[in-house]
Amino acid sequence: MERLACINVDLDGLGHYAAIHGLPDSVLGPGGADAVARLAPGRLCELLAGVGSGLPGTFFAIGEDLASREAPAASALRTVAASGHEIGNHTLRHRYDLVRLPEAAIVSEVRGGAEAVAAAVGVRPVGFRAPGYTLSRALLAAALETGHRYDSSTYPAVPYYLAKAAILGAQRVAGRRSRAILDRPRVLVAPAEPYRPSRSEPYARGDLPIWELPVTTAPWTRFPFIGTFVATLPGPAVDALYRQVRRRPFLNLELHGVDLMDASDGAGERLPRVQRDLAVPASRKIERLRALFSRIAADYEVVTLAEAAERLARSGGPPSVL
Ligand SMILES: [Zn+2]
Repeated sequence: MERLACINVDLDGLGHYAAIHGLPDSVLGPGGADAVARLAPGRLCELLAGVGSGLPGTFFAIGEDLASREAPAASALRTVAASGHEIGNHTLRHRYDLVRLPEAAIVSEVRGGAEAVAAAVGVRPVGFRAPGYTLSRALLAAALETGHRYDSSTYPAVPYYLAKAAILGAQRVAGRRSRAILDRPRVLVAPAEPYRPSRSEPYARGDLPIWELPVTTAPWTRFPFIGTFVATLPGPAVDALYRQVRRRPFLNLELHGVDLMDASDGAGERLPRVQRDLAVPASRKIERLRALFSRIAADYEVVTLAEAAERLARSGGPPSVL
């Protein structure tokens, strides 16, 4: 397989960030409820179009944001799809506790997301990403059963996992109840390169007829390499991290809609105080992303996740892990 890179974005709304911090939706400013779904797709589209002769991207949408064809978020997504980008399924309601629900409810969240995307853009999604990077056997089975050809939820980032465990613990001590949940520690030993998952354990290799495309982490340290860090860590740190990461034959750069936004986009006053990346001006984050996209485009062939899954299926798998 050639060296492929995929740039993709999860369109998690500001209300989901508030929920992670145990805050109610009422902390958001005017227009905040659908700000990410309305604004982030167009901004990323513009950014991708400006690199070289234009790069393709994958946009993971949340079904409930597309409640009607007339919803501004649905129209933003149609524009994205019409520009040749891929639209993926990020479930119907982005429930962080999805893997803890009964199987029928899991299937309905996955199917509901796929149907909402299909109704909004006219094409059924082939890609799935779980809320909060948390997979289970039942959730992966639901993605397969509802027609997805790849999943991109595995995030075997050791420092991220430890930090999340510490933060959730501290929030409990402080009496704040986050909606986020901690994944099973098994994820820490999941493959970091694309793989076909096992029927009984989504974080192990097997023979399920679906590809798992893990979110990229640095080799050895498994330090996460995601949009939020690229946009907010000091430049030299991002540079050093990218030099590590580009040794991987497959790069899966995951962004979030908020990486292209800031507090002035309806976040209100309280949320940016705890979700610090919202306090960084959008223009600055977008410039950082632009610089990285140019480097990626020089080092890799950039394709959508659907295209990467298609080529993996044809070639039988990625080259050996570093
Ligand atoms: Zn999400």
